[in-house]
Amino acid sequence: MTILLSTLNARFAHASLGLRYLIANMGDLQGDTRLQEFVIGAKTTEVVERILAYQPRIVGLGVYIWNVEESTRVVAMLKRVAPEIVIVLGGPEVSHETQEQHIAQLADYVVTGWGEATFPQLCRQILNGPKPLMKIHAGVQLPMSEIKLPYALYDDKDIAHRNLYVEASRGCPFKCEFCLSSLDKTSWPFDLDAFLAELEALHARGARLFKFVDRTFNLNIKSSLRIMQFFLDKLAQHPDDPVYAHFEVVPDHLPDALKEAIRKFPPGTLQLEIGIQTFNPEVQAIISRKQNDEKSAANIRWLCEQSHAHLHVDLIAGLPGEDIDSFARGFDRLVAIKPHEIQFGILKRLRGTPVIRHTEAYKLVFDPHPPYTILSTDRIGFTDMQRLVRFARYWDMIANSGRFANTLPFVLGDAPFERFMALSDWLYARTDATHRIALDRLAALVGQWLQERGHDAAQVASLLGSDYAGQANMQHIKVKSNKERSDVANPRQTRHIAA
Ligand code: SF4
Repeated sequence: MTILLSTLNARFAHASLGLRYLIANMGDLQGDTRLQEFVIGAKTTEVVERILAYQPRIVGLGVYIWNVEESTRVVAMLKRVAPEIVIVLGGPEVSHETQEQHIAQLADYVVTGWGEATFPQLCRQILNGPKPLMKIHAGVQLPMSEIKLPYALYDDKDIAHRNLYVEASRGCPFKCEFCLSSLDKTSWPFDLDAFLAELEALHARGARLFKFVDRTFNLNIKSSLRIMQFFLDKLAQHPDDPVYAHFEVVPDHLPDALKEAIRKFPPGTLQLEIGIQTFNPEVQAIISRKQNDEKSAANIRWLCEQSHAHLHVDLIAGLPGEDIDSFARGFDRLVAIKPHEIQFGILKRLRGTPVIRHTEAYKLVFDPHPPYTILSTDRIGFTDMQRLVRFARYWDMIANSGRFANTLPFVLGDAPFERFMALSDWLYARTDATHRIALDRLAALVGQWLQERGHDAAQVASLLGSDYAGQANMQHIKVKSNKERSDVANPRQTRHIAA
């Protein structure tokens, strides 16, 4: 065995699409290439031991924001115990600001950007000579028709137990400055017939859970419709064994034809991830995000009211030009629309993203360590930013989890941000923790907080009781067949359906 491709995934359920693309495009080296995935949190010695067991000559490591620190330790240890192994890095984290990164200094080579052409070419040079002179190799972007699709490389265990990531297109034409995809300038579609044939093959092998990593699924509506029709056909043909699809969409571009298709998906079969990020037009202008807020709000409302799609809507706190009050207004506006989940993210400075150009003007201070979270801006001080971080965490536990569906409206009242922030501050003062709070204890605390705000004890007990009853009921509400898999993939969605 000559080449080992490896990475540390954020979770076991996440199968690396990027490494499978590399294998699919290794050409004559494919037979000599193996894949070994790990999950973050694994002991470095164990990772290194397992890598060495393959006796590779080359190790290709996928480096991402979530694994860069652990990957650095792996590379450092590999270089100590087996310095003869050639280490090649790739992935978004090392594709920008490469030279200043410790992991890049430890490794032999780095491929930045797209790896399908450049990684195998580099391996050939390493194996056959002449020795590559440059350390950093800018990935050559192949025409989409020349990229071999990797889906046959999902094995039966992946199909049975993991999320299957698929992409009908790469890149994004929009320019939101906090996002790495803003560097793409455009979107490149794969041949749709070939892609659908791969989906067909995966479905025939038993795959039911498809997560699209397309940055904006609804750019080309004709293609979106064909893909949705693929899933609708499968749902019609196999109603007792349904597929589940997850797409990321921009909210201000939902023509009627797309809405009609979305409306046809039964409960538990479609999830839409929708980026709002901010409802503040001044902030949108600062970060070059083009968004029609009215249309976006109306479309999200339509989706909530007229479709069964599970909606996961993203907001980002800490953007340049945003203060707590303007963020709160956007948050309240979104809460009023009632999507199933509001993903409350805190701005991160992803390597290579243009948002950095605002550092001076808006006094942006980022954590120098991954994930490079914003610590303060000229409008939100460090302490308040930490309050927002805790808000996000408690919001996830209480609102997004779906475990307090009946109680939540009483928590939020008519001032959702203000009241939830008050609850968040109160919870933190009592628990000193944002993790590992048992559900029973959390429920008791939420109940106590409501009572302290004048809610009747019996009413609070009844609300919390009904939420627990909801949990019990949830056990019976399955997303049809593939029960375990669907429930594992969508426990929150199942709770939201049950609520
Ligand atoms: S945030 Fe979304 S729309 Fe904006 S550049 Fe990134 S992927 Fe594109």
